[in-house]
Amino acid sequence: MRLSQMLFVTLRDDPADAEIPSHKLLVRAGYIRRIGSGIYAYLPLMWRVLQKISQIVREEMNATGAMECLLPQLQPAELWKESGRWDTYTKAEGIMFSLVDRREQNLALGPTHEEVITTIARDTIRSYRQLPVHLYQIQTKFRDEIRPRFGLMRSREFIMKDGYSFHTDEESLKKTYQDMYSAYSNMLRRCALQFRAVEADSGAIGGAGSTEFMVLAEAGEDQVLYTDDGNYAANVEKAVSLPDDAETSNFITYEKRETPNTETIEKLCKILDCSPTQVVKNVLYQAVYDNGANVLILVSIRGDQDVNEVKLYNELTKLASTYKANTIIALEVPSPEAQEKWTAKALPLGYIAPDIGDDYIKPSKQIHPKFLRLVDKTAVDLKNFVTGANESGYHVLGANWGEHFKLPEIVVDIRTARIGDRACHNPEQTLKSARGIEVGHIFQLGSKYSQAMGATYTTEQGKDKPLEMGCYGVGVSRIAQAAVEQSYDKDGIIWPVAIAPYHAIVTIPNIKDAQQVEVAEKLYTELNQAGIETVLDDRSERAGAKFKDADLIGIPYRIVTGRAIAEGKVEVVERKSSESYEIAIDEVVSILKQKIKDQLSVLME
Ligand code: ATP
Ligand code: MG
Repeated sequence: MRLSQMLFVTLRDDPADAEIPSHKLLVRAGYIRRIGSGIYAYLPLMWRVLQKISQIVREEMNATGAMECLLPQLQPAELWKESGRWDTYTKAEGIMFSLVDRREQNLALGPTHEEVITTIARDTIRSYRQLPVHLYQIQTKFRDEIRPRFGLMRSREFIMKDGYSFHTDEESLKKTYQDMYSAYSNMLRRCALQFRAVEADSGAIGGAGSTEFMVLAEAGEDQVLYTDDGNYAANVEKAVSLPDDAETSNFITYEKRETPNTETIEKLCKILDCSPTQVVKNVLYQAVYDNGANVLILVSIRGDQDVNEVKLYNELTKLASTYKANTIIALEVPSPEAQEKWTAKALPLGYIAPDIGDDYIKPSKQIHPKFLRLVDKTAVDLKNFVTGANESGYHVLGANWGEHFKLPEIVVDIRTARIGDRACHNPEQTLKSARGIEVGHIFQLGSKYSQAMGATYTTEQGKDKPLEMGCYGVGVSRIAQAAVEQSYDKDGIIWPVAIAPYHAIVTIPNIKDAQQVEVAEKLYTELNQAGIETVLDDRSERAGAKFKDADLIGIPYRIVTGRAIAEGKVEVVERKSSESYEIAIDEVVSILKQKIKDQLSVLME
């Protein structure tokens, strides 16, 4: 490819909407163009990168025996109604783009394909003899993200590899899950990314487990907690740890005490001269279920701990049937305005006790008349604790469950694990924290979709059973940008050879110099013939501008047909190390071939 013929435009300034380095660089270097909010065009250089990543993904998937296919992006609403996800996806979460066709039929643009693939499985899988089977595709997905940002990291149209496997039983599912774990690790290693596989939240679906693959980078939206021994890593949404031991309380007699201006635990502990581990704090939440039911929740948790809202959300989802609902559509700490809608009288905020009366809730059809009271494990064993007195400006001291307060029936584990906590697998290890970009997620789904949609098979004994299912996603376009986030410098992108759009760029410093042009043309042809993907910078720009652009777009090897050609040599500059050296023109092909081979083989090990 000749740069003179490519629509190749680099920008000197960072785009105004770009916050992180990889986004700035990809726009400035002419890889992507923003078309609308969360909508990007992949220009020729980007498309080559995406093709390379797709090919690596494809090779690793095929090696496991999975088969590539292509499913429709337009999906009929009926399928989503069968699985029970239409309303949540179009209304509650609103993540799915939907439309009405000329026949007044509802359709959606696929954000994911469980419904489509389960329909196919239902219609085509009859017998255990056909199992296991695993289909995948590499395709554009559509999601109406609340906050599209960071370029390709969180866009509304993006490329994903998604795969779905079907099994007779959990054991077979687990085997494929393990195969995917290895395949994903191989993919990311081959893309030269530094990553970590972490335990992930499986959400309301439950299932036997899920793993996220995180590319480690400061710009990551996720927090990973891990231990140095390599035996534990989890998304903070899911992470567990051992809380510090509680200090013994000195408040041995039960009393109500005036504690003015102590809405926060910190102020309270200062006035009482006690540890937050001796306090039971009572946190208010409001959940809205999919049937419109509003439920007020009171979580009692130890004063030094924080509620993990993802864990809370999962617990509340498990309780959905209590409120004749299926899922939650909103969960939040109610704002003063939200409180006004349901409170019968002013709440003693900051001084709430675990037994705050249900009469604070105004009778209303939409609002459940009783608080849902949950207690976190950290608060269960506390003795002689401090907690609110249900009266502004007062707390009670020396309180005990069973004596002064009824212990809530529902005991949950919903505390947030934190950096510095002792690890569960080995208390001598403490949790460390890192930022990560989630590039892949593998998931044991079980029979959620097959049951909802009636996808069954006949066992060897002739019985009908729902299919066991797994799903596996990897963000192809997100990987491309994550790679840049992990590898750049002040001059631009530094692509790893494996996914660089080109391996080499031949730069002609002065295109008016016939000899320079001749040598460059020859090398350009020979390198490409030898399988070294090479681009020729034959534009009539100043040499300095060309070098700058070559650095910005991040091609691993730059070959300059400058002064040295008089001695039968060219200058080679390595983008990553900035190292430069001269080599004989007729050795360029063999030397570069070897270097590229070496770099790729390291990644294959
Ligand atoms: P996130 O928590 O980042 O929104 P997700 O859990 O919704 O991700 P999955 O549904 O598991 O993601 O999709 C599989 C993969 O697709 C993700 O691991 C990620 O790499 C990619 N992906 C998801 N949403 C986006 C997006 N809006 N833009 C780009 N890539 C995405
Ligand atoms: Mg998402």
